[in-house]
Amino acid sequence: MRKISFLFCLVCMTALNAQRDFSKTKITSEKLSDNIYALFGEGGNIGLAIGEDAAYLIDAQFGPLTEKIVAHVKTLSDKPINFVLNTHLHGDHTGGNQNLAKAGAIIIAHDNVRKRMVTADESQPEGAFPVVTFNDKMTLYLGNGKSLHAMHVNPAHTDGDTYYYFPEENVIHMGDNFFSGRYPYIDLNSGGDIDGLISNISMALAIVDDGTKIIPGHGAVSSKADLESYKSVLVTLRARVKKARDEGKSLEETQKLGLSKEWDATHGQGFINADRIIEFIYKSAD
Ligand SMILES: [Zn+2]
Repeated sequence: MRKISFLFCLVCMTALNAQRDFSKTKITSEKLSDNIYALFGEGGNIGLAIGEDAAYLIDAQFGPLTEKIVAHVKTLSDKPINFVLNTHLHGDHTGGNQNLAKAGAIIIAHDNVRKRMVTADESQPEGAFPVVTFNDKMTLYLGNGKSLHAMHVNPAHTDGDTYYYFPEENVIHMGDNFFSGRYPYIDLNSGGDIDGLISNISMALAIVDDGTKIIPGHGAVSSKADLESYKSVLVTLRARVKKARDEGKSLEETQKLGLSKEWDATHGQGFINADRIIEFIYKSAD
């Protein structure tokens, strides 16, 4: 039943996105290093890397925004967008894949992103599917001594989650493993898991330093300290929810305990409120 309603919901979301009005959306950007920018519009944050011969996009937001995204990239570089890399399968990150592929880009993602796009729902046409996939790690060489490292991480937000790390530029895009300053969405129907999420955040913290620019899937470009505080909220909340569950409380009873109350005003006002983050943890903590 849950699966049916989820599929229905995906179809709804797709229909809603098709009807959604993006005419007022503006694409803006922030320069993070000599060759890397974060782009903001609607949906997941985009990373843009300018290589010696090509531009590389990490994620692509919604299809109707592609023209504006391409136009914005042109104000930053004359290099063609030859590569699009997805952090995971959700439509607010992959909706522009098809348009960019048609314009000549190669779409790259983890195996599970393609697998789920092919089998799970009808929200994405075949032209949006990644044509190059990897199962663990992959390195792209951008020229001028710069590299881009794709790292598949534990199932957390989905089971296709990938970090994209630029060691020479000290920038990392964490996709939706990082909702900076807010509660994360954990997509349980796509393999999401709170324990994977916390372990992935720990892994990212081991890579970054105080100078690293972290592009979250949603929210502002962040620092190591921001990521540490996000982790501490999740670790504390997970322990509280698990304790209630271990004591035999139902999900509904657990949601009434006010376990997240000190963060609800700051973290729980967006897409994911207190009840939903508690549900994600209750259902996926081991
Ligand atoms: Zn997502």
